[in-house]
Amino acid sequence: RLRIDQLSKSFAGHAVLNQVSLHLEKVHTLSLIGPSGGGKSTLLRIIAGLEYPNSGEVEINGERISFQDEQALLTHRRTVGTVFQAFNLFPHLTALQNITLPLEKVHHYAPAEASEIAQQFLTRFKLEKHSFKKPAELSGGQRQRIAIARAVAIKPKLLLLDEPTSALDPEMTAEVLDMIEELREEGRDFVLVTHEMGFARKVADQVALIAEGRIAECGPAEQIFEHPESQQTQDFLARIL
Ligand code: ATP
Ligand code: MG
Repeated sequence: RLRIDQLSKSFAGHAVLNQVSLHLEKVHTLSLIGPSGGGKSTLLRIIAGLEYPNSGEVEINGERISFQDEQALLTHRRTVGTVFQAFNLFPHLTALQNITLPLEKVHHYAPAEASEIAQQFLTRFKLEKHSFKKPAELSGGQRQRIAIARAVAIKPKLLLLDEPTSALDPEMTAEVLDMIEELREEGRDFVLVTHEMGFARKVADQVALIAEGRIAECGPAEQIFEHPESQQTQDFLARIL
């Protein structure tokens, strides 16, 4: 359940999000799509607690994000899993250490326990042979899968993914998308910004098109892709499909 109310954000007087509201009672995967510069990443960063709105509210499963309360905001940040387009991993740490670090330092697991959890995820996603490699020794797809494994390992209440495949070539994209789909099937909740329309359509319960700082349209994936109502959605889809 996600509730966004009258959310506005501007940078240096320039409105990037303009009174965005979105009330979704039953949603497990929300995809944000839309033209470049429309405000998708800004919205995702606000939901992650990494950016402050100028006004408005965000509620995840009935819990309001307290942007005014530093301590509560920190707690919120720690309980969502975020993965961005690239550069998610600590370059000087191995894949295994990348996963264990937040478990130990942020979530206070004992090292042995953190290591066990990390190994479980690496095995599950067939990454165990890369456990002791550093990011520079991994492919882009492997790096993103490790970043996602790290985000999932903390048992987040919500996973926020901002174009996790846009820096990848098609083959690596497929392996990352497969992983996301598998996690969705086991019931994880996601907000996903993506340019992969086929994927958005396949995995998302709800799709929101964001353009010029507003939600042009939001609805079930099928409706958005088959019968878009707003002109902005029609134009956007015509341009990219
Ligand atoms: P893309 O598809 O290209 O990733 P987006 O929809 O994610 O685009 P945002 O990154 O949210 O768009 O940016 C929306 C607008 O806000 C852009 O005009 C951008 O230049 C501006 N913006 C974003 N972050 C900042 C910032 N930290 N300071 C100033 N302007 C910013
Ligand atoms: Mg973006």
